This record gives sequence, C-alpha cells and structure tokens, in this order.
Amino acid sequence: MRTPDIDAHDTDAAMFAADAFRLSDAAAELIGKTRRFGRRVLAPRAAQHDRDATFPIENFRDMHGEGFLAICIPKPDGGFGADFQTYCLAAAELGRYCGATALSWNMHVCSTLWSGALADDLPMTPAERAAHARRRHAHYRRIIDDGAIYAQPFSEGGAAAAGVVAFGTEARPVEGGFVVNGKKIFASLSGAADYYGVLCTERAEGEAASRRNTLYLAIPANAQGVSVVGDWDPLGMRATVSRTLLFKDVFVSADEMLMPHGVYFQAASRWPHMFLTLSPTYMGLAQAAYDFTVAYLRGEAPGTPVKRRMFPTKQIAVAEMRVTLEQTKALWFQAVSEARANPSKEQVLRAYAAQHTTMENANALAAKAIRTCGGQAMLKSLPLERIYRDSRCGSLMLPWTAEICLDRLGRETLYEPGETDE
Ligand SMILES: Cc1cc2nc3c(=O)[nH]c(=O)nc-3n(C[C@H](O)[C@H](O)[C@H](O)COP(=O)(O)OP(=O)(O)OC[C@H]3O[C@@H](n4cnc5c(N)ncnc54)[C@H](O)[C@@H]3O)c2cc1C
Repeated sequence: MRTPDIDAHDTDAAMFAADAFRLSDAAAELIGKTRRFGRRVLAPRAAQHDRDATFPIENFRDMHGEGFLAICIPKPDGGFGADFQTYCLAAAELGRYCGATALSWNMHVCSTLWSGALADDLPMTPAERAAHARRRHAHYRRIIDDGAIYAQPFSEGGAAAAGVVAFGTEARPVEGGFVVNGKKIFASLSGAADYYGVLCTERAEGEAASRRNTLYLAIPANAQGVSVVGDWDPLGMRATVSRTLLFKDVFVSADEMLMPHGVYFQAASRWPHMFLTLSPTYMGLAQAAYDFTVAYLRGEAPGTPVKRRMFPTKQIAVAEMRVTLEQTKALWFQAVSEARANPSKEQVLRAYAAQHTTMENANALAAKAIRTCGGQAMLKSLPLERIYRDSRCGSLMLPWTAEICLDRLGRETLYEPGETDE
C-alpha cells in the first residue's frame, strides 16, 4: 500500500527555497515531494543497505509508485517531464537522505533524460526522429507500466569513460540488431536493473573503432550472454552495488537503441552538462553533513541530547561550513540552471568548476562535520560517517572527475579550440 505523502515530521527546509531561487510552482511541488519521500522512506533504510552493501530495490519499487522513475520522461509519453534543473534539484533532495539511492536513481533517470529532453535538442533527420520517438516510447512504457529499472554502465577501466578513446565494448551490426561483446566495471544497479543502458562502439567487420560510432543500447539483464561478476565491498556508496558486467555474444534488437546512430557523440560534444548529473547526489550529501552538524550541536541528533552549541569554536566551525555550503550551492545552482544545447564557453567552464566544487566540498564538509561534532558523531548508529564515506566517492566519478575538471578548466581557459603553440 502507498504511504501518504504528507508527513507530520516534514521539518527539513527545502535546499533551494522556491521564492529565493525563483522556481515554478510545479517544479517546487515535485522537488518537495522528493524531499519528503527521501526523509520518510529512504533515510530509515539507508544504514542497513550501507552495512550489508545490498541494493535498495524496495526504494525503487516505492519510487515507481510515486512516479519518480518517470520524472524525466516527457509528458506526452506519460512522465513528469521534469527539465534538467528540476531533476537536479529533486535528486539533490534525495541525496540528503540516501546517497546511494540518489546516485543509482541518477543512472536510471539519465536513460530517460538523455533519450528525452536532451535528444530533442539535437539534430536528427525527420525519419530518425520518428524512429527514435517510437523506440523511446516503448522504453518509457516499460518504466511507467512495469517499473522497469535502467542502469548506465559506461566505465571500462581504460580511457574510454573519460571520453578519450572509443569504448572497448563493441556492437557488431547483424540482421535485426547487434551482437555485443565487452566488459563494464563499476556498474551501479548490477544484478538489480532490468536493462543495462550500455555505451559501446558500433563496429562492422574490418571497420576502425571510432567515438563517432558510439551506440547507446538498452541490453535486457536477462539476455543470453549477460553476466554480473566480481565482489563489491567498497569504502562508500555501498548500496549502489556497482559490480562488473560481462557481455559475451549478446544479441540485442535494434529496437533497444536509446539514441539513434551518432546522436550520443553529438550529445557528448553539444550538451556537455549531461555529465553534470552525478553532482546532485553530492550536493545533497553536502547539505546533509551541514544539517547533521547543526542538529548535533543543538543536541537534537537522535540519541545524543547534549548541547554543544555554546562553544565559540563550534560556532566558528558551523559558520565556516555555512560559507562553504552557500558557495557550493550558488555555483551549482547556476550551473544546473544554464544546462542547454550548445552552451557558451563560459557556461562549460562554469559547469566544470561547479562539478569540481560540489564533489570536493561535499567531502570537505563531511570531514569538517566529524571534526566539529566529535567522536560520538562518527559512530555507525548515526548517518554522518556514511555521509563521509559516500561523499568521498564523488570526485572519482568519470567522465568529470575532480582532476579531469581541473585539467579541462586550465586547458580550455588558455587555449581556444584548435589553438597550439607551434
Ligand atoms: C560508487 C560508484 C558508482 C559508480 N557507478 C558507475 C556506473 O553506474 N556506471 C559507470 O559507468 N561508472 C560508474 N562508476 C565508475 C566511475 O565513474 C569511474 O569510471 C571509476 O571510478 C574509474 O575507476 P578507475 O580506477 O578505472 O579510474 P581511472 O580511469 O584509472 O582514473 C583514475 C583517476 O585518473 C584520472 N584520469 C583518468 N583518465 C584521465 C584523463 N584522460 N585525463 C586526466 N585524468 C584522468 C581521474 O582523475 C581519475 O580519478 C562508479 C564509481 C563509483 C565510485
């Protein structure tokens, strides 16, 4: 049975207040719904899944009930039709309560955002667009009607996920579809997803591998030749269950294309903010570290009723945390608000800066929260140590790791496209 959305204990303020951040009523309502859901449903389940490194499948069943699996499915196809900014703000609210669920949800949502609003912004012939509309509608019906969950494995352990070379996972065109062979590492939702939205290189016999021929294919988890291997016992984001996927001569129908030929390559170059979608989870974790610190010092964290707020050093630490949080939120909000096709150079540089800032500051805030609150605050009976471990993962996530963001920021500031020192 569906639990009612109204929660008498809905005491957490919105991260981005509708009036202050000029959100529409519809967006604010949807974001508020995810916040209340996160607090009521995700938070109580998070510790157990983290401890056991198990995937919170019941969260996804409940999110299906709320319509959240369809948040970015266009309205004409039956979804909420959330735009990029609205989705990011909603995902940040979920990240406050369970980082692993928010991050896994992102993998699912991207399969609908990239094939939906983002693909609509990219050039296609009328025939391609019509075929894409037909195919994606079938994907969307699976999600809306059956609660199908999509994963998004693109990492391979080499330079492909950073966008440097073609993916080593290959799709050989055959009658009616493709035969896929390859390996993906760190596939969040492995073993839980119904479809793996795999990025691979379409490559006919004798053809050279090219990034231009990247194909985005939904491979059914139960297709012959798909296996999940390796163990999963990481530092953080344990409930994402990001194990290794193997594809051995897997036949995939052409109807499983999530984007037409060549469109992923277009998206990666013309819609770069698509890679900013890992950051909302960590924006939420940054807020969670701050919220915890305030509650703890006020003596309001569960099981630790001692007030510590009267010490000037604690007050200064909270003030410094607030400064970092406000800086992070302001930059991140600006970047997610200007996501679009063909952004300006300034907007792209700002997106790199926002990703870097959010991923680094989420962990910096969590570390400061532990030092400020003290020893009892890092016990596993409280969420802070999980927030600390989860937030540590953010800066590692390709394609926009913290290092790569700095790398690109420096290079793309100092060199215009095609410029050399020759
Ligand atoms: C919790 C979690 C969940 C994940 N879920 C998914 C998922 O669902 N799907 C998915 O596809 N991936 C996922 N990933 C994988 C992630 O995006 C990275 O691909 C993975 O962490 C890379 O690990 P690696 O050791 O191979 O890193 P490497 O590729 O070896 O990179 C190591 C570091 O070197 C730097 N580096 C790498 N390439 C370059 C370059 N070209 N230029 C400059 N610097 C570079 C980066 O800073 C990087 O941090 C997940 C990771 C984590 C931690």
